[in-house]
Amino acid sequence: MPKPSRASQLLKPTAANSSEIPKAIPLPVPAGPSLFESLDRIVDDTLLKVRSDLGDCTRCKLHSTRHTIVFGDGSPKAEVIFVGEGPGADEDAQGLPFVGRAGKLLTQMIEAMGLQRRDVYICNVVKCRPPENRLPEEDEVKTCSPFLFRQIDVIAPKVIVCLGAVAAKTLLQTNRGISQFRGQWLEYRGRKLMATYHPAYLLRNPNAKGEVWKDLQKVMAVLGLSPKKGKSA
Ligand code: URA
Repeated sequence: MPKPSRASQLLKPTAANSSEIPKAIPLPVPAGPSLFESLDRIVDDTLLKVRSDLGDCTRCKLHSTRHTIVFGDGSPKAEVIFVGEGPGADEDAQGLPFVGRAGKLLTQMIEAMGLQRRDVYICNVVKCRPPENRLPEEDEVKTCSPFLFRQIDVIAPKVIVCLGAVAAKTLLQTNRGISQFRGQWLEYRGRKLMATYHPAYLLRNPNAKGEVWKDLQKVMAVLGLSPKKGKSA
């Protein structure tokens, strides 16, 4: 029997990688009126322009408690973009997304996929830390999410991975619980979207790692990746 790789041990795969590229299936809920249908793509937009338009933002109340705006990090040419909820304390201190405990797990997940952080793009729905790590509120999401939409348009990834319910609900415009559509191919403005559990949830519920690994294997199949043997994960 071949020894399972470190990646597969950590993420406890429960299904073999599929070489078939699945079609995106429609959202299993009637999608509400999309905020974005009316939001045209900005011609010649760039991440620099998006960052510059964000500026030293004071558009919502999160600005008064944040230390640093956490815009996003990674390759502007990434084929996959990971979208989280909002910065935590470590991210607020360092100005980079997913650098705390959940971030370390996300990095391991990315490496288990055979990628490095610099190969992907990582950002959040809101760019400023919600105090006490509370969920971003509706007005905050509404104010900040257009910057995320522009980031996605500029990067034009093959796949968007939503980490947790806030990202999924924001991009899919649904109030359904993430467990109802996690692991299924969905669509955001013509791009493939996979919603999976947030790494912070996995820290609290390690038994869910197998489900997430299955979701990531679907993403890997679309990106033509095979797991990195012996890579830490
Ligand atoms: N959780 C998030 O959703 N985003 C981060 O950047 C860090 C933790």
